[in-house]
Amino acid sequence: MKKILSCSISGSIVLLVLALSTCVFCRTNITFTTGSQTTPGGSTISPTHTTTITKADWPTYNPPPRVDSAIDAHHNTNLIYHGGPVIDNIANVYLIFWIDPQYQEPTPQYIYLLTRFFQDVGSSPLYANMLQYTDAQGRAPTGVHLSGIKTDRTTPFPDAFRTSIGSDWGAYLHKEIIKVATSNGWDYHTAHNLFFLFPIVSNGCGAHGYLGDRSDEQNLQHGSPIADVYYPYANGQEQCVDAPQSPNHDHISDIAMGIASHELMEAVSDPYLIGWSDQNGNEMADKCPLPPATIDLQIAGNVTWHGNLYLIQEEWDNQRQGCVLEGP
Ligand SMILES: [Zn+2]
Repeated sequence: MKKILSCSISGSIVLLVLALSTCVFCRTNITFTTGSQTTPGGSTISPTHTTTITKADWPTYNPPPRVDSAIDAHHNTNLIYHGGPVIDNIANVYLIFWIDPQYQEPTPQYIYLLTRFFQDVGSSPLYANMLQYTDAQGRAPTGVHLSGIKTDRTTPFPDAFRTSIGSDWGAYLHKEIIKVATSNGWDYHTAHNLFFLFPIVSNGCGAHGYLGDRSDEQNLQHGSPIADVYYPYANGQEQCVDAPQSPNHDHISDIAMGIASHELMEAVSDPYLIGWSDQNGNEMADKCPLPPATIDLQIAGNVTWHGNLYLIQEEWDNQRQGCVLEGP
């Protein structure tokens, strides 16, 4: 059964509802087998690592982490495991910045800051929260390895990107990821490679899914997980996150790093959309806000990782039954 799972966010994050977009931060359209729901089989998505993590491996915090409520009562239940893979052990992340110079350039610091985010996030207390979201064999996500970065300035955006994005935008995004991966020899079949595409165009905020989840890609079932982070600026307006603070003095990049964090956590805990989500279909990042009370106004950020400042939304922590910046 084809099902579109939507999500919404509120609190300090502004919902941007576009005509063709059912959600802001969301998973892409998915094929969901109901009834006899099976884990997609085959070597392409089988986890390849064997490290198992127990509670004894979890970090301890002193003082204990701050725990906030979900964005509303509808989002306040724990995540449920649906039996499928997570990106266990190390997620190999590939970044693709898709720039059409005829359209618009990102801010000068955009690529640098996004790259820095992926270098810092894997060993952060926020990523440690992922240790509890294991697969059926107890294999946990443990970190992020930045495995490749490419900027593509040579592929013009399709006309559909310039006005309102057409219903087939997903095809363009998948095509671009496969094109860049192929030309760089990146394996886009393994479940441990996660491709982030940053089209410097706005179509909502972000989404994630996997290569092969489109009906015209039947020859690529269960390819690598992917995430799209759109440029959070259109028609003279910043979008997606409504916070006056900008710890890196670049609002657009600070917003984009927040979206990247959201999609990263979801793509790792629910790469094939049969991993971790709650009873209403919300994934871990859909449940939590960016609480203004967490922001240190001196530094304009709410987390410091490796000496670098970020403004990052909280993530759901089953262990503490709430939203945290440090977990589990
Ligand atoms: Zn989401």
